[in-house]
Amino acid sequence: MTARVLVVDDIEANVKLLQARLMAEYFEVLTASNGPEALDICQRGQCDIVLLDVMMPGMDGYEVCRTLKADRRTAHLPVIMVTALDQPSDKLNGLEAGADDFLTKPISDLALQTRVKSLSRLKMVTDELHLRVSTGRELGLDEISDTAVELPSDRDGKVLVVDDRASSYELIVTALGKLHRVTVVTNPQDALFKAADENYDMVIISLSIENFDALRLCSQLRSLDRTRLVPLLLVAQEGDEAALIRGIDLGVNDYIIRPVEQNELIARSKTQIRRKRLNDQLRASVQNTMEMAVKDSLTGLNNRRYFDSHSDNLINKAILGEKPLSLIVFDIDFFKKVNDTYGHQAGDDVLKTFSERLNKNVRSEDLACRFGGEEFVIAMPETDSALAYVVADRMRREIAAHPFVIDGGKQQISVTVSAGVASLQGKDDTIDDMMKRADEALYEAKRTGRNQVISKAA
Ligand code: GH3
Ligand code: MG
Ligand code: MG
Repeated sequence: MTARVLVVDDIEANVKLLQARLMAEYFEVLTASNGPEALDICQRGQCDIVLLDVMMPGMDGYEVCRTLKADRRTAHLPVIMVTALDQPSDKLNGLEAGADDFLTKPISDLALQTRVKSLSRLKMVTDELHLRVSTGRELGLDEISDTAVELPSDRDGKVLVVDDRASSYELIVTALGKLHRVTVVTNPQDALFKAADENYDMVIISLSIENFDALRLCSQLRSLDRTRLVPLLLVAQEGDEAALIRGIDLGVNDYIIRPVEQNELIARSKTQIRRKRLNDQLRASVQNTMEMAVKDSLTGLNNRRYFDSHSDNLINKAILGEKPLSLIVFDIDFFKKVNDTYGHQAGDDVLKTFSERLNKNVRSEDLACRFGGEEFVIAMPETDSALAYVVADRMRREIAAHPFVIDGGKQQISVTVSAGVASLQGKDDTIDDMMKRADEALYEAKRTGRNQVISKAA
């Protein structure tokens, strides 16, 4: 993973040192020696993460952080405060200024890498989410452009703590209990099941559970499908570095060293929970985008784009398997009159009801699409022309027999539909030719009286 890290420190030697260490890990490094310079780089969108020294003449780190977090353009940039003194009050001030994490000088390699990696992951998912939304906008997917990117809350997270020592987990519960819903499991064997059963936003695991290999649990959590993506945070002792490095290799996201400092735990949990929720949001939006791309938004049926991309598969499968395949094209009769007489909303209601009835009358292996306007197509695998005619005519009768409710239930109108049927004719037939024959049949049905089905032979 590569990210652009901005190192801000008024002492040049500090900047150079951090720069060298980050570059050794293949991060791209930008530098600034004072607050205003740092703000300028951030506002131009040139970096992904900020490593910010607290003590600087003029504008100190807290003020830089506050300014970044107050500006819409830079609020999502993760900020790591570099504190000189190991003073809880420094961290508290940092938290209040909106910092995402802390590093205490002298900075250990493991701490530096873990914090920067963890926060660049967060930045990556945030960026991706922004990108998806703007792509949706460009594609003209209204549903997406209407929803601004809303950063998920970092409160009220579901946190699982796996720890067998009361003195240790009580501290964690005290720190996180005010913000999140914390569950403690003292038997690590139960932890895996619990984590798989419930959708946690984060799992905190003590490295020092009696007679138990905490890293084994981490690796199990990473390999189970349902827990693969849950953030993992280890609670370690000074001297546990080797185990921590193994943990990070196994996919642990972050760690904290005892004695657990409340503000640090709060900040780290916040980052992990936010990333988890952003990820969830991202996955939901991908699903949404894909559904929107292939579904008609009014009726929920597949759209023409989906039909076009899928119809080749259907015909190839039919030809290879020497199986029949039929198409029905439906077109509502005098639909323009519905709009003209009862209004566009009534027209929409009719289209929706029509689609529901269509869906009820086809098998799950049939592909029902809204082709546009008041025209619908069903592709029916393993269905010959005689059977397709029966299905189409059953649908036609069903539509004519039951009036459509419009105007919020206040009125009922009768609607009829015409249909054309075409079936696969030999192995050189194509979807385009089938569609052409079905359209011709439909045209004939319209021309010779409507409310009828015509089946077109070759
Ligand atoms: P025919 O029996 O020959 O098919 O006549 P028709 O009136 O159904 O056909 P025509 O193609 O002349 O008119 C279709 C109308 O469907 C025109 C258009 O305004 C309306 N329409 C298309 N899409 C929608 C929609 O999403 N909602 C509504 N309410 N009306 C739509
Ligand atoms: Mg029509
Ligand atoms: Mg029409």
